[in-house]
Amino acid sequence: MMIDGKALGAKVRADIRTRIERSQRSVRLDAVLVGEDRAATIYAENQARTCAEAGIEYHLNRLPASAGFEEIAGRILLMNTDESIRAMMLHLPLPSGVDTERVQSLIDPEKDVEGVNPANIGNVVYGRRSLVPCTALAVIEMIETTGISLRGAKCVIVGASNIVGKPIAVLLMRAEATVISANKFTRDLATLTRDADVVIAAAGVPALVKPDWIKPGAVVIDVGINRRVGADGKSTTVGDVDPMVAQVAGAMSPVPGGVGPMTVAMLLRNVVDAALR
Ligand code: NAD
Repeated sequence: MMIDGKALGAKVRADIRTRIERSQRSVRLDAVLVGEDRAATIYAENQARTCAEAGIEYHLNRLPASAGFEEIAGRILLMNTDESIRAMMLHLPLPSGVDTERVQSLIDPEKDVEGVNPANIGNVVYGRRSLVPCTALAVIEMIETTGISLRGAKCVIVGASNIVGKPIAVLLMRAEATVISANKFTRDLATLTRDADVVIAAAGVPALVKPDWIKPGAVVIDVGINRRVGADGKSTTVGDVDPMVAQVAGAMSPVPGGVGPMTVAMLLRNVVDAALR
């Protein structure tokens, strides 16, 4: 079975629209974009469109590429105190020399819809109400649609970054799964995944996870987004899971059309949660 992230994401976005309409309040997302990075600009343009479709007002706060830590931090602190702003996010990359984590830690945790402030990660660990990083939320929702019971399930997460792999591991621990966090130094990775009920690939390595790494019937979630340029010069997106894994897995999320669109929907859900609470 393929887990259709596009369809799931569309359903979440429809629910969001309904919630906003019922609330009779206006919901707004403020994003900060520093400089002219092309990928970030395209992302911001797409975000403006997605927000409009969901009934969310989108404000893009642009700063020049010459902005340093003080200027960016100043803008964030102003947004923290602005009562008309309840949801905010910071586009990356920041100009070289600016400490990204230091800037992220300034975002008011109650407005931090990407869950990048370490305070929010801490809240996730403690199981407190908080804004959780969107990709991790997307992964958990997608696993849950398969009907598998996470309590006691063996889960292997391939990749342990602060914003993707680690929050996924913590959310699975909260669901009382048995969790193995793997990274590029893990020995005999295939032996670990072969024993798992759920495998999540978030390493950024194209087609890393092979069919013989997977127990028949297991749930496989592919978080990877890797760009490949073919001989014809055309660029395609491939995941961290070999597509042939679909022959073995009980359920699998594809790339594209899996975690990506669901992550966008989870961001919007965090926006509505932050705005309406
Ligand atoms: P990262 O580079 O920060 O971290 C990669 C992690 O994978 C590290 O822990 C590293 O040790 C581990 N790793 C690398 N090679 C490995 C190997 N051969 N075996 C086992 N572990 C290995 O990356 P990230 O920011 O966490 O992103 C991971 C992937 O997820 C990327 O492809 C990225 O584009 C994608 N991503 C997708 C979404 C989404 O919404 N779908 C969001 C964020 C990132």
